[in-house]
Amino acid sequence: MDQIILKEGREKALLRHHPWIFSGAIKTVIGNPEPGETVAVKDSQSHFMAWAAYSPASQIRARIWSFDENQVVDRRFIQDRIKSAIMLREQWINKVQTTAYRLVHAESDGIPGLIVDRYSDFLVVQILSAGIEYWRDEIVKILIELLFPTGIFERSDAVVRTLEGLETHSGLLYGKMPKRPLLVIENGVKFMVDLVGGQKTGFYLDQRDNRQFCKDIAKGKSVLNCFAYTGGFTAYALAGGAKDVLSIDSSEDAIHLAKENILLNQGSLDQCEWIVGDVFDELRKLRDRGKQYDLVILDPPKFAPTSSQAQKAARAYKDINLYGFKLLKPGGVLMTFSCSGGIDASFFQKIVADAALDAGVDAQILYHLSQAPDHPTLLAFPEGTYLKGLVVQVGNREKDSGIGD
Ligand code: SAH
Repeated sequence: MDQIILKEGREKALLRHHPWIFSGAIKTVIGNPEPGETVAVKDSQSHFMAWAAYSPASQIRARIWSFDENQVVDRRFIQDRIKSAIMLREQWINKVQTTAYRLVHAESDGIPGLIVDRYSDFLVVQILSAGIEYWRDEIVKILIELLFPTGIFERSDAVVRTLEGLETHSGLLYGKMPKRPLLVIENGVKFMVDLVGGQKTGFYLDQRDNRQFCKDIAKGKSVLNCFAYTGGFTAYALAGGAKDVLSIDSSEDAIHLAKENILLNQGSLDQCEWIVGDVFDELRKLRDRGKQYDLVILDPPKFAPTSSQAQKAARAYKDINLYGFKLLKPGGVLMTFSCSGGIDASFFQKIVADAALDAGVDAQILYHLSQAPDHPTLLAFPEGTYLKGLVVQVGNREKDSGIGD
């Protein structure tokens, strides 16, 4: 069996059951493992530590399958992992109210690099690591046996694949092509999703509970939904009794589908305004026009996928949050998110605090939000918590002015 021998002192993360081995931690590779093949990971004294999938092109040189020396990594093993992820998920989803959710969440489910999302009777898979690529055909068969889908569509078009030395790829893996768009239900709200051409695997499933939160607080409110995509927060806000919603996104296709989604749920677009444009520019224009809202939602794309982009991303987050605050009525609420892996929760909170300061508002955090529980985080893998959200309320009185003002 091929082996990875770690450098002395570099076994600490593994002892804590973190699932990644970085190239810099490796002393030698014994044998000539193929990409994705299972290797034994050993400490500098050649004691067994784990079984892992080898990924020669990646900085994350191996991803752990198991810390049990007696474990055989075979089809049965993969099947058990997938089955247990699906079973754990089931109890958190009301399947009558919700037909789109994540079944397999990669590292946090012990299956590093595999994402499986269910959209009604279709599955969308993302194969994001060499280890999963190696087992691709078996995984497709396992999913068919366990879930009887009408079709399985692959959306391995995420850039992270290139870091694994894999080409991006998307296409039908099994069965029928999904309708474009396809109808799904989330917490009783209907959405048309494009599994083939939409962003991610078609929908931002991780925001489900936060959209529900938005619905719960939306009654009577005038809402500004920035980075609206296909109208997720817009549809929930209206379902919750919002007075009106302005939705902004740079993608014309997304706004087109967003309108369809509102028609599907509300039967009319009377309470809606739409802007296809750049949020950074549009927020300034709204401010110049003196617009004010009761609820502002900021759900931007990943500005900082890794910590190396954090400083530049921080400026972008601060900018939109600054304008978000400026556009709130006294007592108004900001729902602000970051899905950047490179920015942790405390840094994000600091950015939002700086934005409030510059906007000249006093503000309080009411809730900390995160990704829905079908996107769990393995405790040993804190990187799994990528979505951070704050619900912030601004004061309803004039800010104290400084002495001498
Ligand atoms: N809130 C959405 C998901 C938002 S994803 C939901 O619940 O479904 C981020 C969105 O931001 C994408 O739709 C993308 O098209 C859009 N986007 C990215 N950069 C933008 C920019 N500078 N201005 C406006 N929209 C942008």
